[in-house]
Amino acid sequence: MLGLMQSQQLLISSLIEFADRHHHEGEIVSRRVEGDIHRCTYRDVARRSRKVANALDQMHLAFGDRIATLAWNGYRHLELYFGVSGSGRVLHTLNPRLHPDQIVWIANHSEDQVLCFDMTFLPIIKAIHDKCTTIKHFVALCDADKLPADSGIPGLQSYEAWIAPQSDRYEWPVFDENSASSMCYTSGTTGNPKAALYSHRSTILHAWASALPDALNMSARDSVLPVVPMFHVNAWGLPYSAAMTGAKMVFPGPAMDGKSIFDLIESEKVTFAAGVPTVWQMMLGHMQQSDLRFTTLKRTVIGGSACPPAMIAAFNDVYGVEVLHAWGMTEMSPLGTVCTLKNKHMTISADEKMTVRLKQGRAIYGVEMKIVDDSGAELPWDGKAYGDLLVKGPWVIDQYFKGEGGSPLVDGWFPTGDVATIDADGYMQITDRSKDVIKSGGEWISSIDVENIAMAHPAVAMAACIGMKHPKWDERPVVVVVKKPGAEVTRDELLAFYEGRTAKWQIPDDVVFIDAIPLGGTGKMQKTKLRETLRDYILPGV
Ligand code: ADP
Repeated sequence: MLGLMQSQQLLISSLIEFADRHHHEGEIVSRRVEGDIHRCTYRDVARRSRKVANALDQMHLAFGDRIATLAWNGYRHLELYFGVSGSGRVLHTLNPRLHPDQIVWIANHSEDQVLCFDMTFLPIIKAIHDKCTTIKHFVALCDADKLPADSGIPGLQSYEAWIAPQSDRYEWPVFDENSASSMCYTSGTTGNPKAALYSHRSTILHAWASALPDALNMSARDSVLPVVPMFHVNAWGLPYSAAMTGAKMVFPGPAMDGKSIFDLIESEKVTFAAGVPTVWQMMLGHMQQSDLRFTTLKRTVIGGSACPPAMIAAFNDVYGVEVLHAWGMTEMSPLGTVCTLKNKHMTISADEKMTVRLKQGRAIYGVEMKIVDDSGAELPWDGKAYGDLLVKGPWVIDQYFKGEGGSPLVDGWFPTGDVATIDADGYMQITDRSKDVIKSGGEWISSIDVENIAMAHPAVAMAACIGMKHPKWDERPVVVVVKKPGAEVTRDELLAFYEGRTAKWQIPDDVVFIDAIPLGGTGKMQKTKLRETLRDYILPGV
């Protein structure tokens, strides 16, 4: 017997329609490429996203056609999020931090028809437009008078001139909720990039689950600052969950330095911010130098790479901001786990709470996870056994776009490439990416643990641990360190700092000081590049 409830397709257009009706005065604040601060409301975004939909119709773009963006976080990008997906096309967010050749490869692979880009990226577009063989229309996200006369890009038009003549009335089409809505290519640390192709259903369910109190806890009383880019994994779905809850949105545009982010948090009374550790590292550095304090920020979600304990402590103890350590990946839309405490943790000591907060957290409803050994056998949830982490759920990929790489699933589960423990309370802790684990004398050393200890030293700004070939032990850890400006620490002092903080055999064999650790397109340390830099390095005593 079937239930007798209404059946409605879960479509992205419903989010902006809801925000328009119930939170029309909700503010959307953007720092623009032009440098100024732009203010509008959900009503304005709804109106203008309907104009985008009409403009796309007028270009005769088909259902499912890919519309690419190369853009910072801002209101025009948000309008494209709703206008493109809502009208049945697929929003393809390109990552401007990739090499131009990679951008060309990706745009051709996804067969983009339109490319909307921020003026910051005009030089890239000038260099690549004639290699992007499927793109028919280039749109610059600016006013008509900001458009350069001599760009050399055929048919280039400004976004404002493109949407100005369009009606702001539009009947959002109703279609199968499993239709594709947006896509994002993974960073492709190995082989060619592969795309996760999200659906309307997966996007709405992900937004719903991630807004819950024990996940990101979003509400109409929040002012949300996604520092995580809208060009990578849909800014962790925040544009959708904010529209779903009516939260104010604050967009940093291109200004991602510590001072600009801090100033925006204060001026826009931000209560909730989201970013990767490297961004927060810069902001905390700025705050320490200038002895600043937050007045409104309550919580910050940190993920993308492991959040060092020193950062959690700084936010928590010094600035009174709750850190939500979160884990996920492109293939998971991205949210998998968030570290929020349970009732039983309310009475434990601050140190014990810290032990819990360091973990990547509990699965949010909708995500199933398990850890397995090399033979695929499931390992116990005891907080000690570690193995490959596998996940499944309605916002986890089934396969990559165009079936690239064959089926990624193992018995219906998606292997994340991460190695983790899960404790009896369901808190998952990443010990490493499987390719970064250091295998020393048959035992595994977690590169994250080695990095976290170095990061706790007051003179260390950033640390990366990599395994180096060793004739006897197979591999031994070396920690590559960037010092804080003006701070000093020697190799021996740092190695002595490890004493008592970890098992003796897990202490790195050496420290290498370096000016900067290479970061990838999503702000993560690029260990492959680091290994190349250190290819002539020989371990002491080898
Ligand atoms: P890519 O590595 O291709 O850039 P993602 O941006 O999707 O892909 O990154 C996903 C990976 O980032 C995860 O598999 C995991 O290794 C790492 N990661 C994400 N969040 C965390 C976290 N909180 N702690 C440790 N690692 C994390």
